[in-house]
Amino acid sequence: MKLIAPTHDVPSTLTPIPALSDNYIWMVQKNGHAIVVDPGEAGPVEALLTHGLILEAILVTHHHQDHVGGVKALKQRTGARVYGPRNESIPVCDVRLAEGDHVDLPGTGLQFQVLDIPGHTAGHIGYVGLLDPDCPAIFCGDTLFAAGCGRLFEGTPAQMLESLGKIGCLPPQTLVCCAHEYTAANIRWALQVEPANVALQARAQDTAQLRARGLPTVPSRLGLELQTNPFLRAHHPDVRAAASRHAAARLDTPQAVFACLRQWKNDFK
Ligand SMILES: [Zn+2]
Repeated sequence: MKLIAPTHDVPSTLTPIPALSDNYIWMVQKNGHAIVVDPGEAGPVEALLTHGLILEAILVTHHHQDHVGGVKALKQRTGARVYGPRNESIPVCDVRLAEGDHVDLPGTGLQFQVLDIPGHTAGHIGYVGLLDPDCPAIFCGDTLFAAGCGRLFEGTPAQMLESLGKIGCLPPQTLVCCAHEYTAANIRWALQVEPANVALQARAQDTAQLRARGLPTVPSRLGLELQTNPFLRAHHPDVRAAASRHAAARLDTPQAVFACLRQWKNDFK
């Protein structure tokens, strides 16, 4: 089995900017223009807007404060256009989006397709596009994390499972650009679910090495998530068996397995 290292072959145009306690604000720079995704605060982005770099757009995935806290200040300072979910309240939102919509950004030359991926919040959206001709990426906010997924604050397990299923159908080389550095804790729990998963064991080592060097563990590749993330593996016999043991009940459907996994992770210390 070929393992995909988390940070190999990531285009230099893509930067995870650490913000708040464990958030990442994603920046993509091209042609002297930049976009940012989910600026929970303005300062770390402003610090990078030097040497004439023009902020073309601010993309928002959902309404939580740690994703929108910097939107107003960045909008005021740069005039960048703000894109956000149609069905959520965002501090400033110029363009409201839902699944099927496209975002065209001529300054950077980037184009994104919008996916509805509710579950963490009711109107959560994701942005899918090519960072380079051979480099697909998704900015998925708090829906899919490296080796984990977001908590269900406003949605049902079935909704989140469907949202993750949409993401899981993207090409395996897709870069998963999530909004938090939760990977090490997620893997500790994932190893409880699948202790014999060789890809997960290798990922645990890679993650520990990256964190020991103070490096981000994201973006990851979707292919690695499909091999190691229990929330994308609710259909797998080993995951189903582990969830059934944990629940002390026979869980027959991916929805039941997923609901059990989410509760198990919520309770895991
Ligand atoms: Zn959130």
